[in-house]
Amino acid sequence: MPGLDHEAAEALFSAHVDGELRGADREALEAHLAGCDRCRTELASFRETLRAVQEAPPVAASNTDEFVDSLKSRIRERSHGRFFGKKRTYGMEIASLVMLVIAVTVFVVLRMVDPTWLVR
Ligand SMILES: [Zn+2]
Repeated sequence: MPGLDHEAAEALFSAHVDGELRGADREALEAHLAGCDRCRTELASFRETLRAVQEAPPVAASNTDEFVDSLKSRIRERSHGRFFGKKRTYGMEIASLVMLVIAVTVFVVLRMVDPTWLVR
């Protein structure tokens, strides 16, 4: 492991991944990586972590946006449908209410009269 020890090499990972490492530092790191499995593995997991950090939040955010958008449009469609549904069935609801009142009235009246009147 010429030039750098593990810690010095790892300290350069960030700059290396960003493409900011130049000259002697870059050569020293690449020389170290060429002869060091441990630091190649470390660099790979460093890149992986960096990618996860850089890519995961935007993806999650865009998914969330899509989710919220689809949720909003679903709520819009639903409230829209309910609104029109209510309008369309408004007469029906009044009719069922009237029929319910009639049914209850009939039921109460029948309860008040002699029940045998029904089977006669
Ligand atoms: Zn190393």
